Amino acid sequence: MSMAAGFRDSVEAMREGLVALRREIHRQPEIGLHLPRTQETVLKALAGLPLEVSTGTGLSSVTAVLRGGRPGPAVLLRGDMDGLPVTELSGLDYASQVDGAMHACGHDLHVAMLVGAARLLSAVRDELPGSVVFMFQPGEEGPGGAEPMIAEGLLEAAGTPLVGAYCLHVLSGWLPHGQFTTRHGTMLAAADSLHVTVRGAGGHGSAPQFARDPIPAACEMVLALQTFVTRSIDVFDPAVITVGTFHAGTVENVIPAEATFSATLRSFSPQTRERVRTGVQDVVSNIAAAHGLTADAVYVPGYPVTVNDGGEADFAAATVAEVFGADRFAWMAHPEAGAEDMSYVLERVPGAYLNLGACPPEHDPLTAPLNHAPEARYDDSLVPDGAVLLAELAWRRLQRG
Ligand SMILES: [Zn+2]
Ligand SMILES: [Zn+2]
Repeated sequence: MSMAAGFRDSVEAMREGLVALRREIHRQPEIGLHLPRTQETVLKALAGLPLEVSTGTGLSSVTAVLRGGRPGPAVLLRGDMDGLPVTELSGLDYASQVDGAMHACGHDLHVAMLVGAARLLSAVRDELPGSVVFMFQPGEEGPGGAEPMIAEGLLEAAGTPLVGAYCLHVLSGWLPHGQFTTRHGTMLAAADSLHVTVRGAGGHGSAPQFARDPIPAACEMVLALQTFVTRSIDVFDPAVITVGTFHAGTVENVIPAEATFSATLRSFSPQTRERVRTGVQDVVSNIAAAHGLTADAVYVPGYPVTVNDGGEADFAAATVAEVFGADRFAWMAHPEAGAEDMSYVLERVPGAYLNLGACPPEHDPLTAPLNHAPEARYDDSLVPDGAVLLAELAWRRLQRG
């Protein structure tokens, strides 16, 4: 039994309210794990629905459970809620009213979509064969809200096993307007970081033989990390290492005692991630030793690889095609090198992460400012479509049992 037509029709009555909700959140972006104002707005938007709502202890998350009228398993739908430390230059009349904060990644649309899905599914609660967990998550842009929500019991919130987990991310450019995409397997990268301190002994710039100069060795390390990528990593299971900071010294005639640099490490499989973790530390410590120096290489793990379940990706693709038409869906050729903490949920529950092209129709997606840009704009007339897709994924997945 399909409810496709039902959700697409009934969302129209909610359209205006969902767009207004998105704009209200857009005006008041909050950053990180504590989003009290956004949390309050979400709680208000869910009020009156037949949901079991709980809020986080260590973060301002909202978990809402809809228990269907028929027995069955549970599925999870996720929306992230946080903005970025970016000063908005979109020129929109509902632009951020908070200095230095902006919903530059479109998470305001995700909140409105998830509220829409909660309203749509609440209306069919009696026929729903199982439960739906709505995950309103702070801190996606850092330091990570999914892990603490899992630690606070998110995955057990329904009291029955989760059989599927889904989320949707809007893109302000790149994809054609209204197009949904996903892929089998790896969807997004793991993003880790490396912080290196090379220690030598300071001295006079004219007499390096009496000092231990850390600068040439640190330069060698930066180059050797690039060689490590091309010589030790499988070209079909790649990695990206970018050294983003490099600091040493004060004036030209003094050899400093220390040089420091830091790098972001991106990989697309647990195997390559592990190879990079050990490889970069070997490169750094062995080059230091070759020059009679010591080095600390501190590896800081970030979000793991985001992996879609193949069957769930097929299911999501078929759902898009049936609900919106085949022309609204495209398979992605490659994963993205960005990272996401939905990865922690998808490590534990089979599911699918989808993108939605939300570039305003008057802009060319190939030249429009991308997510995180201060000029980024998102077409919120697509919020109802996002709400319908999330509701359809939950509804159809529960029908399968
Ligand atoms: Zn982002
Ligand atoms: Zn994002």
